[in-house]
Amino acid sequence: MNENRKISVLIPCFNEEEVIEECYRRVTTVFADINYHLELVFINDGSSDRTAELIGELCMQDKRVLFVDLSRNFGKEAAMSAGIDLMTGDAALILDADLQDPPELIPEFIKMLEQGYDNIYGVRTEREGESWIKLKTAEIFYSVLKKMSFVDIPQNAGDFRMLSKRTIEAIRKLPERQRFMKGLFAWVGFNTVAIEYKRDARSAGETKWNYWTLWNFAIEGITSFSTLPLRLASYLGIIISFVSFVYALIVFSQALFFGVDVAGYPSQMVVMLFLGGLQLLFLGIIGEYLGRVFNETKDRPLYMTKKIINQSDVAELN
Ligand code: UDP
Ligand code: MG
Repeated sequence: MNENRKISVLIPCFNEEEVIEECYRRVTTVFADINYHLELVFINDGSSDRTAELIGELCMQDKRVLFVDLSRNFGKEAAMSAGIDLMTGDAALILDADLQDPPELIPEFIKMLEQGYDNIYGVRTEREGESWIKLKTAEIFYSVLKKMSFVDIPQNAGDFRMLSKRTIEAIRKLPERQRFMKGLFAWVGFNTVAIEYKRDARSAGETKWNYWTLWNFAIEGITSFSTLPLRLASYLGIIISFVSFVYALIVFSQALFFGVDVAGYPSQMVVMLFLGGLQLLFLGIIGEYLGRVFNETKDRPLYMTKKIINQSDVAELN
């Protein structure tokens, strides 16, 4: 009864020439044994190596491959959005090109889909080939985010997940330009379930993330899903005003009863520098949010496509 159903496997690729063919081979092998049609969407996110060429070759050999070539590097979040917009399957599976998330798990995802789940995400129980520091910082980030935000973004879940048709449609409706996909996936809700798996080391090539991109990713996550940092300014303001008031009373009564004492330069300096720093910090935080409002109002498209091959070449160039 499933013969007519199609799964779209979405694979964002940025300089992945070493793994594209292996990735294609492993995904198609999995689909040889299951009762679903396959649509394999490779999104080339502005690679500067032979990634585009290799995908081009694959889609000549195999009509199930859809090649979406973005006009430059837009980042993985935008690449995933491009895949979500252009896919035609009845469900989507998001996969990293480097095969850190094993395609062999696809049948398990499908089993959950058949049981009526919409939002099936992989949870990494172990991660190979990643440093202790990266794991620890990731852990801290997710626990902080969980405490701060309105949505429950699962810890240790990546972008490896399967989404049902209605979840995909819900995500397509989200208009925001700044996309913290993990948060958006959690935000749309529906019947959500986790699948545990062991995350392998990269099969080849280098990770595209460094601590700077991860830091920016963390800021993106927090500012997209929480306004707590803004509120913090109000709370700190209240506390500091209260303390200042008490201190003012002390200074005033001292002056009244013991006469004016001109000393106190060091303490004044400390207070001035501390409050100055605090004010700049919160100006910065307000700026972060303001910058995001600015970016949203520009209303630019999330990505630009240079070329699309197959799926009857969808809607030519935009
Ligand atoms: N990726 C992308 N655009 C980017 C960076 C990464 O499409 O700007 C893709 C990359 O090709 C891979 C996936 O996102 O398929 C995950 O990237 P990576 O393996 O570097 O991240 P990690 O697994 O280390 O978190
Ligand atoms: Mg990876």
